[in-house]
Amino acid sequence: MARETGPVCRLCRREGAKLFLKGYRCYSPKCPIEKHAAPPGQHGDKRGRRPGSSDYRPYLREKQKVRRYYGVGERQFRRYFVRAGKTKGVTGETLLQLLERRLDNVVFRLGFASSRPEARQVVRHGHFALNGRRADIPSILVRTGDEVSVREGSRSKALFKKLAERAEARSVPEWLSRDLEAMRGVVVKLPDRASVEIAVNERLIVEYYSR
Ligand code: SF4
Repeated sequence: MARETGPVCRLCRREGAKLFLKGYRCYSPKCPIEKHAAPPGQHGDKRGRRPGSSDYRPYLREKQKVRRYYGVGERQFRRYFVRAGKTKGVTGETLLQLLERRLDNVVFRLGFASSRPEARQVVRHGHFALNGRRADIPSILVRTGDEVSVREGSRSKALFKKLAERAEARSVPEWLSRDLEAMRGVVVKLPDRASVEIAVNERLIVEYYSR
C-alpha cells in the first residue's frame, strides 16, 4: 500500500481536522490543530478558493480526510468503496463500517496502540493474534465474535506494558469489549454509523466516486 510519509501534522492541517496520527500528542495542547494552525505551505493561511477551482474540492477533501484518518492507500480505499457499493445498505455507511472493521483500527480502538499508524506497525510486526492465530495483516476485517489479542510473547514487552497502562484511561467503543489484564478484546457486534468518531459527510465521498 502506498502510505503517506513525511510530517503527519501537515495532513491534519491540510484537512483542517484532527486525524489522530501522532499518538498522545494528538490529545495534548501541543497539537497544531488545537492551536488553530493554518493549512501547510508558505501561503497556507492566505489561501482561499482559487480562481477557477471547481465544486470538486469539497468532495476530494472529504475523501482524503477519511482515507488519511484510517491510513488507507488510494487504490485500497477505492476497493472499499466498490465493495460497499455491492453490499446491501447505504453505500457511505457501509464504507465507514468496512474501515472501522480493519484489524489495525480495532487494535487502536482497543487502546493497544496510541495511534492508527502505530497500530498498523505493531500488527505488521506480528504482535497480535486473531482468534488465537498470528495475524499480521492490518487490513483484515474483523467479524462479530472475533477475538483480538496481544500475542503471548509480546505481552511482557515494555511497549505493551506502557500501552496497557495508558489504555486504562481510554474508553472502548460499545461494539468492542476489552480485557486489559489478558490484553485481549472481542468484537461484540459490528460497528455502525454512530461508531465513527471523526466528523464526516460520507455522501460527499459517494458523490466523489460517482462523478
Ligand atoms: Fe498532529 Fe495529532 Fe494534532 Fe493531527 S491530531 S495535527 S497528527 S498532533
